[in-house]
Parts: sequence; structure tokens; C-alpha cells
Amino acid sequence: MAQLTLSGIEKRFNNTLAVKDLSLDIKDGEFFALLGPSGCGKTTTMRMIAGLEAPSAGQIHIGEREVTALPPADRNVGMVFQDYALYPHMSVRDNIGYPLKVRGVRGSNYTERISAVAEQLQLGALLERRPGQLSGGQQQRVAVSRAVVHHADVFLFDEPLSNLDAKLRLEARAFLKRLQRELKMTVVYVTHDQVEAMALADRMAVMQGGVVQQVGAPLEVYRRPATTFVASFIGNPPMNLLPVTLERAGRWRCGDAQLTPDTPRPELVGRTLTLGLRPEHLLLDPAGELSGEVMAVEPLGVETILMLSVAGETVAVRLPGEAEPPSSGTLRLRPEWSRAVLFDEEGARL
Ligand code: ATP
Repeated sequence: MAQLTLSGIEKRFNNTLAVKDLSLDIKDGEFFALLGPSGCGKTTTMRMIAGLEAPSAGQIHIGEREVTALPPADRNVGMVFQDYALYPHMSVRDNIGYPLKVRGVRGSNYTERISAVAEQLQLGALLERRPGQLSGGQQQRVAVSRAVVHHADVFLFDEPLSNLDAKLRLEARAFLKRLQRELKMTVVYVTHDQVEAMALADRMAVMQGGVVQQVGAPLEVYRRPATTFVASFIGNPPMNLLPVTLERAGRWRCGDAQLTPDTPRPELVGRTLTLGLRPEHLLLDPAGELSGEVMAVEPLGVETILMLSVAGETVAVRLPGEAEPPSSGTLRLRPEWSRAVLFDEEGARL
């Protein structure tokens, strides 16, 4: 295994700058997620790491080796794609063994390595079948087996769970995480699913429009999003964003409400900023400073989501368990100030 370093890489397709000045240091043995909405440049970044796309600028290093100009086969990178790209006419055994065959591994070494991986990924009984005779989850395990049968320095996963149903996806997620830990794999994992990224990654990069908005551990990003984009992309429901005018130190206005935050921020007086509060950090409290009109109640079993209109904005409040809040009328809310985040006029965290 090895670390992976991207230094100022860019990719331009005619007039589109798909990836802009991207630098990342992915550590040896780290599970790193590239997360962002469709079109943000995740796949292009992955393809540049794999060598399937040449960067327009910047360098890529795997360990001490610069690989920017090397063809894919010389990079020692294992890949799993969204569609698995299994060979339909080959057996599971030959699909898994393909990377060994092209590297000239033969005989008992070949069969033993396939058996070891198949055992680990619970495919031992399916080795003679063809991909068309397997379920989606089994095909996904074959694709992972094929990637790990050869000891690559870095493994690239591009939305590998998106073809699985919700239950299988949960199982496959746990399985991938365990495999990565056991084999101490360096993994770059592309997904648009923030839950998947948070569940799997040691660290993640959130991208928008070809630019990395924030890099950090999942909970760090959740607690302290760097921008309003990250705040609203991570979390379900996303972070509530409310306009506040800082009239005096420790006296902020939000619609008709006067707020008294625990940090007065005198240096920001006179500005209109955005206050960010997660749905679990707005508490129902008859003495709360904010008032909201109930628009909807979503009883989800494990939690209840209350949707309210506060100062003209739709706000979500998370209540634990089977709470039964009133389904209409006005409720008062108290911000948990220690968890509040403030963003400037451009949407950057202050
Ligand atoms: P998705 O999740 O939908 O796959 P993504 O985040 O992986 O999206 P990319 O596929 O990397 O995004 O695309 C980034 C941008 O580059 C998009 O605007 C896309 O249209 C553009 N793009 C990607 N590949 C090409 C190409 N071969 N030619 C021209 N433009 C491209």
C-alpha cells in the first residue's frame, strides 16, 4: 500500500473546467471519500488517478513515484466501477483471476490466490458460474475480488454500491469497511451519497463545480461545514440556514425575533450573515427566542422531523423517537448556541 498525492491537478474539456487546482494528500491505509453532487468532477478526478484521463495540469504521486504520465497498467492501482465491468463470457474464477493472468501468474499460485480471495469474499461456491447467474450483491463481490486479488498500492471505487438495494448496500458497506481494515488498503471512494461517505470514510473531500470545498473527518465536516454548500449537502435533513442581522454585539435579528447568542461577535456588527443550525440543535422550548409555524410532521419511528416556517425560511427540527408534536400552530424554538455556525455573505464559515 502507499499514500497518494494529488498536486494542483486540473482537467479541462474544451470549455469546461471539470476539475480545478485540486490538491489532496491521501494517507497510506486511509479510506478516503470523494463526495459531491452529479457533475462536480468526482469521476474525472478518479479517472486521472487511474490514468484513464490525462490531467491538463498538476502531478500525481503514488508513494514516492510520480505516475502523472504513466499508462493505467503501470500505476499498480486496483479499480471497481459502478457497473462492475465483469466479463460476461468468463466464469467467476476467470474474472477474479484476470489481473493475475495478464501479469503472467500461472499454475498453483494462480489457483491458490483466487481461492484465498474467494474464501474471504464468500464466493467459494460460485467460482464456476458466469456473472449473469449471480445476484447484484454477488457480482459486486466478484468485482471487489478482482480488484484485490492483485496487491495494488491504491484502490479506486467509483460508486460501487449504487446498483444494490438498500439492505444489500448496508451489508456491502460493512463488508467493504472490514475488508479495507483487514487488508490495510488505501482506498479512494467516489460517491454522491453523503450517508455512504460518512459511514465509510476516515476522511472525505466535498466537491462542488470542480473545486474541493472542504476536506476532513466526516464528523468534523458535519459539525463545522466550511461553506453553506457543504452545510446543506451533508446531513438529512440538511443544516438550517437562517439570515441574521447583527444589530449590536450579542443582539442579532432574525425576521421579527431578537436573538441573544452566547458569543456576541462585536467585530461583525452591522452585517447580515447566515446562521447555521442542525435540525437537532434547534430545541422546542416555550421560552425560545424563535417562533415557527408548523408546516408538517414526519413520524419516522426512530425520530420525528418537524418542518416549520421561521422568518420566511423552511426549518427542520429533529425530535428523538416517536415524539408527537402539534401538527399545526406556532411553536417556540431555542438555538443550541454552542453548536451554531456563522457564514459570511459569500457563504464561507466565519
Ligand atoms: P456523476 O456523479 O454524475 O458521475 P461527477 O461528479 O463524477 O458526476 P464528472 O463526470 O467528473 O462528474 O464530470 C465533471 C464535469 O466534466 C461535468 O460538467 C461533465 O459534463 C464534464 N465532463 C466529464 N467528462 C467529459 C468529457 N469526456 N468531455 C467533456 N466534458 C466532460
